[in-house]
Amino acid sequence: MKNVFFVLIILFSTTTLSAQTFFDESETIEKMNTDTLIMQNIDLLTESSLPESTRELVLRTVIDTIATPDKFKKIVLFSDHTWEYYDLGMPVINDSIIDLHWNDEKIHAYRDLVELKSLPDEIDLLLVDSLHAFYAPITGKINSHYCFRGKREHRGTDIKLEIGDPIRACFDGKVRVVMNPRQTGGYGNLIVVRHANGLETYYAHLSSVKVKTGEIVKAGEIIGLGGNTGRSTGAHLHFEIRYQGFAFDPERIINFETGEMRSANLFCLKKHYFSIYSNYKQTDVQSLAASQRIMHTIKSGDTLGGLAKKYGTTVTKLCTWNNIKSTTTLKIGRKLIVRQ
Ligand SMILES: [Zn+2]
Repeated sequence: MKNVFFVLIILFSTTTLSAQTFFDESETIEKMNTDTLIMQNIDLLTESSLPESTRELVLRTVIDTIATPDKFKKIVLFSDHTWEYYDLGMPVINDSIIDLHWNDEKIHAYRDLVELKSLPDEIDLLLVDSLHAFYAPITGKINSHYCFRGKREHRGTDIKLEIGDPIRACFDGKVRVVMNPRQTGGYGNLIVVRHANGLETYYAHLSSVKVKTGEIVKAGEIIGLGGNTGRSTGAHLHFEIRYQGFAFDPERIINFETGEMRSANLFCLKKHYFSIYSNYKQTDVQSLAASQRIMHTIKSGDTLGGLAKKYGTTVTKLCTWNNIKSTTTLKIGRKLIVRQ
């Protein structure tokens, strides 16, 4: 009898579907196969010692799951023709965070409503706790980092993918924006999710979207498929993380190559992280210095000597900061660091 209880405990502990496997059918199927194998092995081991009636109990394995109108509930079918509801639990979302300047018609809902100077120097954000998980939107090679790129600010991370690769919600949250390329321009098909932890994540250039505005999503849930829509050359995910509209380097939080969280569960967001010159590779001292940089766009007639005088520095320093020589031709439109 003791063996029977042991076997049943294993059966139920291994057939419990976790939130992560729930959203990925292949993982679920793989898991079910493992369960069946475990059960078969246990059955073989105990076959001679267990009575006939017990062996029937042991063979109760999960054979399928069926969706219900509520995506957080599924019906689990067992091999002995019984079934049970499995409740994943709808994520707990703090309404006061979600509702602040909620707008499903504007990509950047906080724009003109929250000023950078009104934010504190440090903001503690509890990214993950016992109720809220993390999941990388996709794992892959990085094509482009959060940086000043050419003449444009690149306020996100580009991750290489194949068209149709699943894109997952990073944390629990509520879908704020679902827009097509006509509405977004450069972003292509775009999803913006507002999270219970206070952040927003942007998923751009998607080939298709799987969620609707206002929908509650769980971390790890597939919300769309990767693509090449909008201003994009080659299939990739352009991914942004913003706090009240202000972007910072997503790689501060996510290691996209491993899919793991790079930051601690309690993430201290510093105001200087919002600078386009601040990135995860820097120490906080370097990030602060980089954020205080002043850039100058070269205009007709500008010379290094003139700029040094204008910004109270020297030609030598200008050359060091910008990795140029005093003889380098200054092309109109180029940006130079003139103070840091
Ligand atoms: Zn990008």
